[in-house]
Amino acid sequence: MKVLKFGGTSVGSPERIRNLISLINQDERQIVVLSAVAGTTNSLVAICQEYAEGKNPAPRITSLNEQYEDLIGDLFVSNEYRIKAKELIDIHFGTISSFSSGVFTPIHERVILAQGELLSTHLFHYHLQEIGVPSVLLPALDFMKINEELEPEIPYITEKLGAMLASHHENNIFITQGYICRNAFGEIDNLKRGGSDYTASLIGAALRAEEIQIWTDIDGMHNNDPRVVKNTRPIAQLSFEEAAELAYFGAKILHPQSVFPAQKYKVPVRLLNTMEPNAPGTLISDQRSEGEIKAVAAKEGICAIKIQSSRMLLVYGFLRKVFEVFERYKTPIDMVTTSEVAVSLSIDNPKYLKEITEELQAYGQITVDQDQTIICVVGDFVASKAGIAARVLDELKHIPIRMISYGGSRNNISILLDTAYKNEALQSLQRLF
Ligand code: ASP
Ligand code: MG
Repeated sequence: MKVLKFGGTSVGSPERIRNLISLINQDERQIVVLSAVAGTTNSLVAICQEYAEGKNPAPRITSLNEQYEDLIGDLFVSNEYRIKAKELIDIHFGTISSFSSGVFTPIHERVILAQGELLSTHLFHYHLQEIGVPSVLLPALDFMKINEELEPEIPYITEKLGAMLASHHENNIFITQGYICRNAFGEIDNLKRGGSDYTASLIGAALRAEEIQIWTDIDGMHNNDPRVVKNTRPIAQLSFEEAAELAYFGAKILHPQSVFPAQKYKVPVRLLNTMEPNAPGTLISDQRSEGEIKAVAAKEGICAIKIQSSRMLLVYGFLRKVFEVFERYKTPIDMVTTSEVAVSLSIDNPKYLKEITEELQAYGQITVDQDQTIICVVGDFVASKAGIAARVLDELKHIPIRMISYGGSRNNISILLDTAYKNEALQSLQRLF
């Protein structure tokens, strides 16, 4: 069994929807996970906001509805399926229109957000029926579940989905919704924005699938930022650990959380390009290649905070007190470097910066550097191999560096510098390849 996930642009127009079947091998069993049509979830978010703020969402709902009328007018050829599709969109837009501002709750919001994936999967299912390709639509709301901690329940998914598949042993193509799920109270919920990749990874893990394929419009993960650096190349192979490091650094093509379920059950993830289906893309698996530098990535908008205190010398518990301040303000820390009398750390969410620095003053002298960028070099840097950090730093020898973090994991060297130097640093590091 393979799991194939197609994002919003892959179902974004009638031509793209018609093209999907050419990417699916009809002789193999597979689950096709679909996102909402590109732009739909954003529109649904805006509609929810209008409900919540007491504004009239009707004009926006009508304009989204019209987009779907156009889509089905183009996609379906027979009257029979045009009528079926029209009934379908009427039902979903009926739901979207059925709320009222006075009593709009987060539960209602999640129901509205779910309509995008429900629409795209039903329309694709109808399309396959119209062209005579057998397929089964599996409602994600019947098997995709999160618990009170909002964590997915993989054994539940294995059981429910396994039973659904077993009752259709004659079929090869199964279609389901990305992103949507039920929560611990049985309500409609979702896996957060961009969550369809996560759905695919969870299904792959739950079924111990042979492979998870994430289809987008790019030819895999690139070894550097193509917007800044010339001659970047898709990375042929990454370990799960390397992919997890890169996902944080804005390698947008795979949702960060999506690596973990696949990694846990060792299901390979392949990133493929719908525009170039025969290109090899990027394979993420548990295979490692020691000593190799695979990619460079950057994350802007970082803020560095230094706490300097002679009271830190030879005492225990100092770091705990410092970290607790960040915990109280629900602010994740990314990089940490320490000296004997100071600690520097970085955050990417400055929402509570003022409160945090005020509280930290109790522990020492505080310095804040804003507009910083983390540059991260990813690969497999076994501690027994000499020279990798030197090669990286050598390429950056003309650039001022604020922090360096090495040895946190064997897969990452992080360097913090002023954002003014970001592009230059990425371009210099391209020489590593
Ligand atoms: N449709 C959802 C979103 O736009 C989920 C996804 O596409 O991954 O966030
Ligand atoms: Mg996405």
